[in-house]
Amino acid sequence: MWKDAILDLLFPPHCVVCRRLGSWLCQACQDKIELIVPPLCLRCGLPLKGAAGPLRSWVVCMHCQGRTTELDGLLAYAFHTDPLRQIIHEFKYRDLQSLARPLGQMMAQGWRVLAPSEWEVDVIVPVPLHPTRQRQRGYNQAALLARELGVHIQRPVVEDVLVRSRPTVPQVELSFQERMANIQGAFQCNDSALAGQRVLLVDDVCTTGATLEAAGAALRRGKVAAIWGYTLARAKPE
Ligand SMILES: [Zn+2]
Ligand SMILES: [Zn+2]
Repeated sequence: MWKDAILDLLFPPHCVVCRRLGSWLCQACQDKIELIVPPLCLRCGLPLKGAAGPLRSWVVCMHCQGRTTELDGLLAYAFHTDPLRQIIHEFKYRDLQSLARPLGQMMAQGWRVLAPSEWEVDVIVPVPLHPTRQRQRGYNQAALLARELGVHIQRPVVEDVLVRSRPTVPQVELSFQERMANIQGAFQCNDSALAGQRVLLVDDVCTTGATLEAAGAALRRGKVAAIWGYTLARAKPE
């Protein structure tokens, strides 16, 4: 688009990590991202320690045995360590929306590698921001990723059914229990359009999973058929 071309002339794209000119995320920095590699627990998406062999859909880690969750499965593309942490920070807080394209592409690649074939998806739903927060930021980073992912895996993105009906305080400093209390009931489905659908619930970062659980609970009340959580990054366990 001509508008993008003019912007590129005025603000030539440079890697947000190493500042090299050419693109917003250079290949060398992209190669340093700490990918999450199978075999994985498909309940929590974390690598199975000491396990080897191909990805198997029935594998559930010790931590997840007997744990209840609103999600039918959870995966993430990479760990929330540098350089991805830095990239996401630029994407969220510095208005670098151009990063949605390479990041969404990476998520699509990851999905093809990581998701078991029985995880069929009808629609992609991004985790919504509260309208006040979205007005402040000007965009919802999860929605930008979801749209890009949707182009690549050829699924529609539904952004107006799952909504964040209650503002919440930032979760950064909170424990899982505090996060759950903070975010419980913060989401709702405002009509039945997702009923019977298999939903790919997308967010940028999964830290404790509390946000995805709360959004998942709202989708369950909306009678969806399945929920697969998928984030670009997730906190690396200690
Ligand atoms: Zn770079
Ligand atoms: Zn697990």
